[in-house]
Amino acid sequence: MSTLGSSENPLRVAIVGSGPSGFYAADALFKSDACVHVDMFDRLPSPYGLVRLGVAPDHAKIKNSIRVYEKIAAHENYAFWGNVTVGRDVTLVELQRHYDAVLFASGAETDRRLGIPGEDFPGSHTATEFVAWYNGHPDYCDHEFDLSVKAAVIIGQGNVAMDVCRILAKTVDELKHTDIAQHALDALAESQVEDIYMIGRRGPVQAKFSQQEAKEMGKLDSCDPIVDPSDLELDPLSQAEYDDPDNQSARRIFPILQEFSQRPASNSQRRLHFEFLKSPVEICGNGKVESIRIEKNRIEGDPKRLQARGTGETLDLEAGLVFRSVGYRGAPIPGVPFRDDWGVIPNEDGRITDGDKPIPGLYVAGWIKRGPTGVIGTNKPDSQATVAALLADAAALKPCELRDSESFRTELKDRGLRVVSFADWKRIDAAEVERGKPAGKPREKFVRVDEMLSLLDSSS
Ligand code: NAP
Repeated sequence: MSTLGSSENPLRVAIVGSGPSGFYAADALFKSDACVHVDMFDRLPSPYGLVRLGVAPDHAKIKNSIRVYEKIAAHENYAFWGNVTVGRDVTLVELQRHYDAVLFASGAETDRRLGIPGEDFPGSHTATEFVAWYNGHPDYCDHEFDLSVKAAVIIGQGNVAMDVCRILAKTVDELKHTDIAQHALDALAESQVEDIYMIGRRGPVQAKFSQQEAKEMGKLDSCDPIVDPSDLELDPLSQAEYDDPDNQSARRIFPILQEFSQRPASNSQRRLHFEFLKSPVEICGNGKVESIRIEKNRIEGDPKRLQARGTGETLDLEAGLVFRSVGYRGAPIPGVPFRDDWGVIPNEDGRITDGDKPIPGLYVAGWIKRGPTGVIGTNKPDSQATVAALLADAAALKPCELRDSESFRTELKDRGLRVVSFADWKRIDAAEVERGKPAGKPREKFVRVDEMLSLLDSSS
């Protein structure tokens, strides 16, 4: 047989996950000197992972990366295998029989836990649930959030927490021309939430949200950003961190918070309270969330990574709704090593390891490789590094036994699986865009897998 990666014998790669890191990996493979065939698997009939189902609906520009992924998908050696769950519908062993290499780019689909009493009370949700609900993720479209309450608390001060706060804070008019799921828009239209508390365990210098996200909070139609000026009086350690010339992020964010702290009171419908140096210690209530107990913190520790330490002083904040937004976490895939403590697949430069030995032919990229950090573009160099490792190994890879994707597709069909191709997805895509037109939305997403599959079967 000719060498793997020649045009007579393309290197066969399965990519598991069709979010940014999966597409950037496919792109790097196609741009290499090798001839590569990529089959990209996703458990949903729709591609693009967090770009479709995680990026906030009012951040349409960030979704423009989809155009790049569409170009990658147009490569003659690319195929989408949607509606196939690896680890359930097909096993890793099966993939290894059909592909020379398997690259996992399955993201971080669950949340870190706080580990405090009351965390699972009705009314306490993860940010992931809310984000997936308003973005029309099929697994979350039937979730219910009690928006009849007056106050909501968001724990965490990253960009996901900002997204959650902004969606709660915006009026229907600010959201109705986005691709927000209609069920979410309808529920938000009835929202009685007036006070939104965004709680950070560290201070304003250590806040994780970005400048752009902070600025947006000052420009909402009917929500005032509230910052207590005394929270901006920095302790000596935070002051030193702020004064560090390399700390560009804090220097950009701090003046925005200062401006918020000086705004006169207005009679807007809603208020977003930025709360610093406070940690949740208990979510309290009688069968459902009624309040949250918070401990005040001070800043301590290594100047390179200042920590929050509890002072013992607590206060109770009344709130009927809590969103925990303290970071995403990867989920294990049957048959693939997993580091439960970090929520990632263990790896060395993208080569999946068992103990400290790489497993030949298995690779990982994106959040499931490095943890949930960075923006969409951060995944490009990350995926390129993994692909460089894969290509460096290519000559030594054991060629897979079954080298024909079409017979594999037929085999899955015979098992009753409806594999969704990229052409199928484009039909769903076009139908969503059409459905959005009457309401002036860029699209109205199908929020159920069955709806997407029946559309394909009715129009094929
Ligand atoms: P994140 O940026 O890591 O923020 C997590 C937040 O949770 C931090 O404020 C963290 O505080 C806090 N936290 C963690 N454990 C906690 C605990 N036990 N108690 C209280 N607070 C706790 O994560 P993320 O917001 O989920 O975002 C994930 C990634 O996606 C980030 O890189 C983010 O920038 C990116 N993203 C970008 C956009 C955008 O560009 N528009 C939108 C959404 C997400 P500490 O700082 O003290 O750890």
